[in-house]
Amino acid sequence: MKEYLFRQSLKVEALFGDTCFCCGVQTQGKRRLHLHHLSYPNGHHTNTSATRNEALRTPERFRQVCYPCHSAITRLSTMTPETLERIELVVKETKEGKWLWRV
Ligand SMILES: [Zn+2]
Repeated sequence: MKEYLFRQSLKVEALFGDTCFCCGVQTQGKRRLHLHHLSYPNGHHTNTSATRNEALRTPERFRQVCYPCHSAITRLSTMTPETLERIELVVKETKEGKWLWRV
């Protein structure tokens, strides 16, 4: 089984590469990337091996992403457009550093 999973992961890497679709981080052999479902058939979640097989059969239904990007996608996907707009605003304000405290 371990050998099967290893060969399966090599097929996934051959198809999707070793780079996060969102931020471009590369695995460099150290960690595995996640396969994010763009949609779930019948709304059912699947285990890692079944997900890999699905991705190998229908790669257009998946994005390969790193753990932090997968977490962000999963969280942001549940939010309303209004919440997303506000989050984007706060991120922009944070990057601009408008409200830094000065001593
Ligand atoms: Zn990423």
